[in-house]
Amino acid sequence: MTRGGHERAIVFDLDDTLYPERAYAFSGFDSVAAAFAERLSADFDVSARMRELFDTPDRHRVFNAIAAQCNAPESIVAEMIDHFRHHAPRIQLHSDAEAALTRLRPSCKLGVISDGYSIVQHAKIDALDVRQRVDAVIVTDDYGRAFWKPHPRAFEEMAALLGVEHRHCAYVADNPAKDFVAPNALGWRTVFIERPDGVHAKNPPADSGAARETIMSLDAL
Ligand SMILES: [Mg+2]
Repeated sequence: MTRGGHERAIVFDLDDTLYPERAYAFSGFDSVAAAFAERLSADFDVSARMRELFDTPDRHRVFNAIAAQCNAPESIVAEMIDHFRHHAPRIQLHSDAEAALTRLRPSCKLGVISDGYSIVQHAKIDALDVRQRVDAVIVTDDYGRAFWKPHPRAFEEMAALLGVEHRHCAYVADNPAKDFVAPNALGWRTVFIERPDGVHAKNPPADSGAARETIMSLDAL
């Protein structure tokens, strides 16, 4: 902290803000397909079929659809989900995220606030080597399901952890349905990063959930 507490903080969402969420899903599909190959004994490419299903309204029932197609018992689905959530993800930062974290580190406090199951989000954060590149990481699920966005707790705690006033904090994220409600209410600058391939980019904004700015690349920060 230097002169007069005017330090700036930029806090990022994780999925589809710093790395492509689709790559995490595909990494998990490859891992599940390999681990369950024998038990599914499919006569088709299971991982390729999962990728197809990811882009349909069946996105949240991918493993059910595969199990049904392979005449596998319904009980295998829970095992596949468990394997998926515990797999070691092979993912990489978006190139503009990699550049932004490096460029902004000397002049700003940096943070990450992410929703999702704790074990999954921490595995992603480890795989992306993000912890060393920012000043604070909060996975909302570590507080419990009730504290996922749009609950304000993570934003209040992040500002305190970084020692930056709310009005000097920014939140950069991709999901208009939930990401900007709390930081808007706290007086943060809110920035929607529009990822063409983003899983949630087309979600309609929540009430009072529209970001104040939209950017197409983190290069614009
Ligand atoms: Mg996201």
